[in-house]
Amino acid sequence: MAKLKALGFSNVHSERFPVPGWTRGQETAEVISPFPQRLIVTALGGSVATPASGIEAEVVLFPTYDAMLAQPVGALSGKIAVVTQPMPRTQDGSGYGANYMIRGQGATEAAKRGAVAYLLRSLATGDRRDAHTGTMHYAEGTPKIPAGALSAPDAEQLDRIAARGKQIRLKLVLTPTIRPNATAETVIGEIPGREKPEEIVLIGGHLDSWDLGTGAIDDGAGVAITTAAAKLIADQPVRPRRTLRVALFGAEEIGKAADAYASTHLAEQDRHIIAAECDFGGEPVYRIELPEKFAASPFGRALASVVSRVPTTVVATPVQDGGADLESLKGVPLAGLAQDGTHYFDLHHTVDDTLDKVSAQSLDKAVATWVAFAYLAADTDVDFRAISKGPPTGK
Ligand SMILES: [Zn+2]
Repeated sequence: MAKLKALGFSNVHSERFPVPGWTRGQETAEVISPFPQRLIVTALGGSVATPASGIEAEVVLFPTYDAMLAQPVGALSGKIAVVTQPMPRTQDGSGYGANYMIRGQGATEAAKRGAVAYLLRSLATGDRRDAHTGTMHYAEGTPKIPAGALSAPDAEQLDRIAARGKQIRLKLVLTPTIRPNATAETVIGEIPGREKPEEIVLIGGHLDSWDLGTGAIDDGAGVAITTAAAKLIADQPVRPRRTLRVALFGAEEIGKAADAYASTHLAEQDRHIIAAECDFGGEPVYRIELPEKFAASPFGRALASVVSRVPTTVVATPVQDGGADLESLKGVPLAGLAQDGTHYFDLHHTVDDTLDKVSAQSLDKAVATWVAFAYLAADTDVDFRAISKGPPTGK
């Protein structure tokens, strides 16, 4: 809030909401037999704890998540289930989406089959020996078992031991604690529109981050890019017609900020003209995804012309990822500014998410694209709400 005020934003305030609190404890994993060695592990956010003395059990290793799902009820009784499926590297992050359930649902699926603990190969694309945390969810009526992520090299080591036909025995200690009543805050700042201040173009990133690193790429970069874009627009001699709102969400990582924003702003949701979130690191935007009618509008054509110099292309396509913090908004048109995520999941949710990984030159390019998008969206005559409601055209 102090930074936004210092930069000259209007209506700077924060919006508090309740969240479940979770604090990491001790976390160790080691192979007891056949080849004793320590492994790098981290607890998944929301995981219950093992006993303080840990859990020691035989491992059932699955090279794919589907292989574990194919097991019948009871097949994993008393075992530690380990899924070592690797995540593919992609520019658009689709490998993460495709593997997300291995982290999110794996513990519940393992528990249904009788497992006493669950480990996955980190949702990671690099070969660093660090573990990637992230959220997981328990289901009602299924036992809650401790869940963690192994570093990719350690998951591969377990694959090698298993390939020798050896039974692996593992000891796991995870001692996080849960606080039921914690609080998060979303911070808001605005650049008021010069003609239609009641109409809102919403951009932003998220302030919260995983505890292992510092959250420089996830999502300090997104906070910086969207804040800088709005500041540059505010500094122009002529401000856009509509209000530009920057929302710095307070609990994206545990999926709690979207509902909080949507309910707090329920009465003005229909005054949100378009929204876009920046939450994929500090690399340049290589593609702007707009619904077909938006891309074909005067706004879309002007945007394509301006950002071609970055270079960024504008594509007419259903928006693939509007952002986790925007998903509870009803009827608000979305745009997707896709950043190059080729290396994003080398660092994501690890101790390595630190500021030295962010390049000022890349941030500048990302900011340039966001300035063009946000200025034109806030200044155009095109009403995205009206044209998104009309009958579909073309394919
Ligand atoms: Zn994020």
